Amino acid sequence: MINNAAPRCDVLVISPHTDDAEIGLGGTMALLASQGRSVWCLDLTRGELGTNDTGDERWSEAQAASRILGLAGRVQLALPDGFISAVNRGQAEAIVWVLRSLAPRWVFTAPDAVRHPDHVAAPLLTAKACFLARLSALSVQRPSLRLWPEGTEMPEPTARWEIEALFGVCAEQEPANLYFDVSDHWEKKMAALNCFASQFQAGGRRQSTMINNADFLERIEGRARTWGHRAGCRFAEGLHTGAVPVPPVAQADQILDPIVLEAGDDPGGVVHGESPKKAEFFTATGRAATFRDW
Ligand SMILES: [Zn+2]
Repeated sequence: MINNAAPRCDVLVISPHTDDAEIGLGGTMALLASQGRSVWCLDLTRGELGTNDTGDERWSEAQAASRILGLAGRVQLALPDGFISAVNRGQAEAIVWVLRSLAPRWVFTAPDAVRHPDHVAAPLLTAKACFLARLSALSVQRPSLRLWPEGTEMPEPTARWEIEALFGVCAEQEPANLYFDVSDHWEKKMAALNCFASQFQAGGRRQSTMINNADFLERIEGRARTWGHRAGCRFAEGLHTGAVPVPPVAQADQILDPIVLEAGDDPGGVVHGESPKKAEFFTATGRAATFRDW
């Protein structure tokens, strides 16, 4: 690793819209936070193109959800909703600033990259930013942002930062590389989603959308049951990485992490070992990351 400073958080979840992180990884965030991990969210936009909310309403809903999940903090940028672009320099630099400030070990993107153009572009933009954050010759300016909890300050950015691993929420039809067993944290995820009344509850003057009907929450649950079936538990959330996986390391039996399940015999699963706790991946930057230190 090229880092001269210690990590300042364990996981940063990067999403285009405020609620995407909860939809894709609400259980995982609650699980990791309950184990003492420092979990942050970065929402790229204020969701100004949302059908039934004001940006302020959605931000206060996000704060309530963050409290339920036990997040360490949440940042919301003001990149243009609907126009997240994987090749926009300014957007990449805004993320670079946050990466250098929060100095996360791992970065997850959410939700899965389907349908909404921002959902497709955000993982690509994030991957670019994770690489650029390593380059000390690239200096970036602090972007406009909102921060929760109120009164906290963003740490002074390091000159460069290299993350250990980059994962994205897996689409249903794709094989996952990594599952988190979120069975014990499913209610927290649902409670967090229920905070977003502007997004998931119909009625009153709200227009109907793809997500404010009962079907949507049922689909989220159905997906978690599918992942859970593959991972051998009740509810799971699935992640994948574009990085190349490697076989278990030699001292793999020293890797002890009860929260991580491997893809096992999932047809597309890529990590196979004698123990579900043995896993090592090449990261987005070409180095191996393990669960050894978790
Ligand atoms: Zn979204």
